[in-house]
Amino acid sequence: MLEVQNLYKSFGKLEVLKGINFKINKGEVVAILGPSGSGKSTLLRCVNFLEKAERGFLHIDDLKLDIEKITKKQVYKCRQLSTMVFQNYNLFKNKTALENITEALIAVKKLPKEKAMAIGEELLKKVGLLEKRDAYPVQLSGGQQQRIGIARAMALSPKVILFDEPTSALDPELVGEVLSVMGDLAKEGMTMAIVTHEMDFARKVADRVIFMDGGVIIEEGTPQEIFNNPRHPRTRQFLNQII
Ligand code: ATP
Ligand code: MG
Repeated sequence: MLEVQNLYKSFGKLEVLKGINFKINKGEVVAILGPSGSGKSTLLRCVNFLEKAERGFLHIDDLKLDIEKITKKQVYKCRQLSTMVFQNYNLFKNKTALENITEALIAVKKLPKEKAMAIGEELLKKVGLLEKRDAYPVQLSGGQQQRIGIARAMALSPKVILFDEPTSALDPELVGEVLSVMGDLAKEGMTMAIVTHEMDFARKVADRVIFMDGGVIIEEGTPQEIFNNPRHPRTRQFLNQII
């Protein structure tokens, strides 16, 4: 479960998040849509503390945080409870597929190497890449790298996974394999927040859709409501441009 309350973030004079409120229930998949510059990435990055918001409250699983008073220890805890999948995969270039997945298990969870490797191999199997166990990122296609990115995000058994346009850097023919892994995760009951431009995927897989513009949530609803019957003119305009 992830709840965000009154989240504010500025870069200098530019107010990027102007009081964001939403909740993702356990097992729910929420797609976040919105035009370029609307603050979608900043929102995910603030939840993961890659950016520090000015104020707001986060509630992840049983951890309740006041961002203004957060400690380093809470940030680390938070990053175990909610992990992130990036647009450009962000894999460690000098580590193999397996090492990319086990890194956090060894460094953060302090698991013995053998135990971490066993978990890593399970995850490789899950994303269909066990045979790429010892390959380095340069030896993998974009789709394969992103599947490793997802396996890495799953390694710490997070309560929620945040996806920031996970397929938008991929050649069209590689998008399907990544969406398929994400669809499997959704079916298994993983709680997921997905910033995406893949409207068909959002329609099929998301339980709820949030539309953001100008640093605020303009409207949210079921995919049916948002795609077939958007209430707000800005949502309508956005969807008309993109679909
Ligand atoms: P896109 O769909 O293009 O990825 P987005 O909705 O993810 O867009 P953000 O990346 O969150 O948008 O950016 C929101 C606003 O904040 C933009 O105006 C952007 O220029 C600005 N911004 C983002 N990161 C920084 C930064 N590190 N420093 C200054 N401004 C930033
Ligand atoms: Mg973005």
